[in-house]
Amino acid sequence: MKAPAPLDAEFFCSACHTPFRNAMPLDSHGVCRACRAGLRGFDSASTFGFYEGTLRSLIHLFKYAGMRPLAGTLGGLMNRALPVDRQFDLVVPVPLHWRKSLERGFNQSELLARELARKRNLPLAKALRRKRAGSVQASLSLAERRRNVAGVFEVRSKRDIQNKRILLIDDVMTTGATASACATVLKRAGAKSVTLLTVARVDRRN
Ligand SMILES: [Zn+2]
Repeated sequence: MKAPAPLDAEFFCSACHTPFRNAMPLDSHGVCRACRAGLRGFDSASTFGFYEGTLRSLIHLFKYAGMRPLAGTLGGLMNRALPVDRQFDLVVPVPLHWRKSLERGFNQSELLARELARKRNLPLAKALRRKRAGSVQASLSLAERRRNVAGVFEVRSKRDIQNKRILLIDDVMTTGATASACATVLKRAGAKSVTLLTVARVDRRN
């Protein structure tokens, strides 16, 4: 297997790091339309690479073949993607519905969050809860995904996150709808900032 490749794109949003084919969707500050419209929920986002090739294979082995030790490898890649000078107070994983955790035996985002917490010497809090499962998102458009995840997440304990700079962890970002929904409830409950960190993101350029 080739080493997983870090994300490489000529044009991307300076806030959410969404890659684009050209500079057209970006304003003079390099910010995309979704970020300008405040649709993101999170303040910024970082990712290691695109969800393809070796990286995709590693995530599949980790998530679906239950190769838990890969959390260390993937967590290392995530740590590399996060600017060293960024300060955080708390690491929070995107929650799975309990039924899914039970089926899989673990929440992949939580294992990754533990790696990041250890590497950055930060506390971890399972501050979010998924109230209902939400239907499968794979075939949905961005607007449908937003509706699908709206109201799905809630904050367990507001006290844990008040005024905190939160590092929100998920494995893969597709449209960002799930992360936006999580970030929105965290902000509403008093979080100072929310930065999303994922191993990979789906390349939606076409
Ligand atoms: Zn953006």
